[in-house]
Parts: sequence; structure tokens; C-alpha cells
Amino acid sequence: MARTLITSALPYINGIKHLGNLVGSQLPADLYARYRRARGDEVLFLCATDEHGTPAEIAAQKAGKPVAEYCTELHDIQAEIAAGFRLSFDHFGRSSSQPNHALTQHLATKLYEAGLIEVVEETQIYSETDGRFLPDRYIEGTCPNCGYDSARGDQCDNCTKQLDPTDLIEPHSTISGATDLEQRVTKHLYLKQSGMRDALNEWIDSKADWPVLTTSIAKKWLNDGDGLQDRGITRDLSWGVPVQFEGAPWEGMDGKVFYVWFDAPIEYIACGAEWAAKQGLDSEAWERWWRTDKGAEDVRYVQFMGKDNVPFHTLSFPVTMLGAGEPWKMVDYIKSFNYLNYDGGQFSTSRGRGVFMDQALSILPADYWRWWLLSHAPESSDSEFTWENFQQSVNKDLADVLGNFVSRITKFCRSKFSEAVPEGGEYGEQETALIADLTAKVSEYQSHMDAIDVRKGANALRAIWVAGNEYLQSAAPWSTFKEDPEKAAAQVRLGLNLIGLYARLSAPFIPDTAGKLQTALALPDLDWPEDVAGALDALKPGHSFVVPDNLFAKIDDEQREDWQEKFAGTRS
Ligand SMILES: [Zn+2]
Repeated sequence: MARTLITSALPYINGIKHLGNLVGSQLPADLYARYRRARGDEVLFLCATDEHGTPAEIAAQKAGKPVAEYCTELHDIQAEIAAGFRLSFDHFGRSSSQPNHALTQHLATKLYEAGLIEVVEETQIYSETDGRFLPDRYIEGTCPNCGYDSARGDQCDNCTKQLDPTDLIEPHSTISGATDLEQRVTKHLYLKQSGMRDALNEWIDSKADWPVLTTSIAKKWLNDGDGLQDRGITRDLSWGVPVQFEGAPWEGMDGKVFYVWFDAPIEYIACGAEWAAKQGLDSEAWERWWRTDKGAEDVRYVQFMGKDNVPFHTLSFPVTMLGAGEPWKMVDYIKSFNYLNYDGGQFSTSRGRGVFMDQALSILPADYWRWWLLSHAPESSDSEFTWENFQQSVNKDLADVLGNFVSRITKFCRSKFSEAVPEGGEYGEQETALIADLTAKVSEYQSHMDAIDVRKGANALRAIWVAGNEYLQSAAPWSTFKEDPEKAAAQVRLGLNLIGLYARLSAPFIPDTAGKLQTALALPDLDWPEDVAGALDALKPGHSFVVPDNLFAKIDDEQREDWQEKFAGTRS
């Protein structure tokens, strides 16, 4: 049995994510996990909340709660919303977990022993006005690389270059706006990434099948300008993985924690340990996914993320994994995404602009959103959510094509025959042609899904729905019935079997709808139709079904306008 390990970029803890975040990693990762499971793979699908760092501390302060308590609450909220979107994680963990603390400290020790971590004295930005050292994200200024005037201290959102706060031109505090920033000396750990440059180049060159978006970002960071820089991996915070611990190979690091970007990807592995512990399994259960000396040799590991996360996953995290000198399972394929914009601008968490995950579920079921987001996934370029496009896509693809097909065929069968697959008649030329056409279309759909081409996969699935609709339109059993009830029975039988085929093929995209169809048609399972002709002959005459409730409600213009106004900004 093929084994597929899938991780989604970890959503940060300080609030509910918007639909742009969802389609940039968790949702396509879920699509792929569901598809691989349907194809018979053994799948381990992991995600977690990324809980450390200053933004968590500040959000907790605002909420008037201890940071640990705040993170527990927000983790539970995010887990519940993820379940609402039917994200089928095997485990949704927490980067603040004990296994992640232990593993982060272990890997740091190994990196130090390998000469890849050094203790350095460095100057850090201190704000007199704010009375504290400022973490990278709370310093903004002009990017020395591209001139963008709102680059953050850790990264430029415009050119994606990894930065240090001292690189910024005209820096200021984003907490107070203060410009009276001064540099003070303090002690920190540095990850000597530059020493791994050749190894990284070689490793990335071996990934000939990676998307251009992924490799171009990685190569740019690796080789542009002065090339990959060494990087501070400790911060002056209280919330995080302590740098000074029993058995640590360094001293004088009390009061510091590992930088959130050092410990967060390690949580991918630790999340496996959390999963095993929760299942009551021993460490072998997760190590067979993560250690090549313990069974992970034959695992295919796929990561999903937005393009802003690519540098950390192609450079910094691989330095940790390769540099530790232990047989960790390295990623085989990185699927990265561009950005989803919102109605003529950007989604904005701070301004409450756009639709957030909880709001989305409060107005429509998950499948409506899953279908639109995945069929418009920002793969080759940024894409844009507009309410007009959403309305059109839901009404056409889901209601008119899929929903209408299911409704017409089941209702017609009930009225002219019964709520059972009718007997009589044979599949003729038209049916044979449809089956051949669908066999080719399903094969095309599979090849896009295998390649994780999400939009192409959605287009191919839509084409399969459309082919059934066109058949029904042209076969017109309601006309046939008047002259040749036997022939109409065969047409309806094929139509009912098409619904079964659609349930199986559509489940990765719209699992709730697939489940409804499975129940209505009393399908024993939603296994993948490896043989399309066989799948279209699976429901035999006499097999009972019930007419399902209307699958999709159309979005009318008034609703669309209401929502457009409601989500224009200032989330309350
Ligand atoms: Zn820049």
C-alpha cells in the first residue's frame, strides 16, 4: 500500500483565518488527503496551530488572558472551524505541545554539535518609547532589496526576502510608531545556514518535478545577492520553547525562547508524536512516517503552503532537518500557492476585510465554499474572490449542473417507476459513447489530481458533471418513456448510476454532498471508481434509493448584495 504523508502550513494562533488563508494551504491539503485515501493510500494528514511568538503574547494581553490559556481557547476554536470545513486531519496539534518542546531542544543540540549553531553577541533594536526590545514583526521600514516602504523586520511582503530588523531603512515601531529605536547588545543563537548552501542547492536541484513557483523562490533566496544568510533563532520572550534547558550545550540564555519560525516546522514531526500518543500508540507508530531508518523510506511526503512560507520550508527547515545529521524524512513535493484577493483589494485581518472562516460557515454550508475556493485556487497567479463570481459559480456548477441532474433523474424515476433502480432495456449506442467519454474524462481528472493541479482537477470534475447533464438532456427519458418505457428504464438506470459515480468522484471536493448522495442511493462506500464502466453498472435493477433533498440553494441577487456590503470591512 502506498503511503502518503501530508502537512498543511500551520495557521497562526492569534485569531480566525480568512478564506485566503484557507485556500492557501489547509483546504487543498485536505483535497489531496481525501483523494489519496480514496485511491487506497495509507495517509497521515497533519496540521497544528502555530502558537509561539510575540503576536500571540500581544493578542493574549489584549484579551486580558494568560497566553497559555488564550492559546488553548483559540486552538479549540480553530479546530472546531476546521471541522466545520470538513478538514480531515488525522491530528490537529499544537506547536506549544510537550513533544515539540522536546524535539526543538533536541534538534538545536544536534545542530550545535554539528557546528551549525553558534552563540553570538548581537545588537538588537530596543525601543525607548515602548520600553522593550522589539521583535522583528513589530518593526517596519523600507526594504533594502526592493524599496517597498512597509517591509517587516523579518520579511518583505513585496519581494519575499528574509530580513533582519537592522537591514531596514528608516525603521519604526509598529506598536507606537516610535522612531527612537536604538541598538543594544545581547546574546543569541545563530543558525549557520550559509554553511549548508551547497547541500541545499544540491537538494533543490534534485527536485526536478517541483512547481516553478516553489523552486524559483527557493533559488532566489539561496543565490541572489550575498546568498543565504545565517539567521538568529532566539528571541527575548517568555512564551515559547526555552533556549536554556537541562543538558543544553550553552549557558547564559535564560529568558530567551527559540524563534517561532525555528520551532513551528518542527511541529510537523512533533504533531505525529501527538497523534500517536492520542491514539494510545507507541513512538514506532509516528517514527515509521518520519524516520527513514524506521520505515519512512517508502513514504511520499507532500507539503502545502502559501508562497510567503516557501523560503522557510525550502531553506531554513531543511537546514534543521539535514543539518541535524539524523535520518529524518525530507519533503518530496512542495505545493505552494499564490494569494487570493478579495473583491478588488486584499483580505485584511486587521481591518476585517473579506470573509473569515467562521463567517463563511454562518451563511452557507462548507461545500459551497470548498467548491468555489478549490475551483479558483490561486495556483499559476493570484486570483480574486468576487461575490458575482461566487454566485455564478455556485448557481451554475453546483445548483444547475450537479444539483439539477440529481434532482431530475431521481424525481423522474420516482414518478414513472418507483424509488428503486428500474429494470428493463439495454444500454445502447448513446450510452456506450457516454461511458467511453467518461472513462477518458475520469482518467484526465485523475492525472490532474495526481499532479495536484487543483484548478485543472476541478475543471475536469465539472466536465464530468456536464457530460452527464448533456446526456440526460439529449436522451430525454421523459420523452422516451412515452414511446419506449424499456429504453427509458435503461436511461434512468444509467442516470442513477451516474449519481453514484459523481458521489465517488466529487467526495474530495464536496464531501458533505457526496455523503448525502451516498445515503440517498444507499451506496456501500465511496471508493474510487477504478473501472468507470463497472461503476456505471454497480446499482442493479431493484436497488432502492430515496430522492434526496435539494442539494444546493441558489444565491439570489439580494443575498449577494447583502453579503457584499456585510464583508466590506470592519469585522465586528
Ligand atoms: Zn523587498
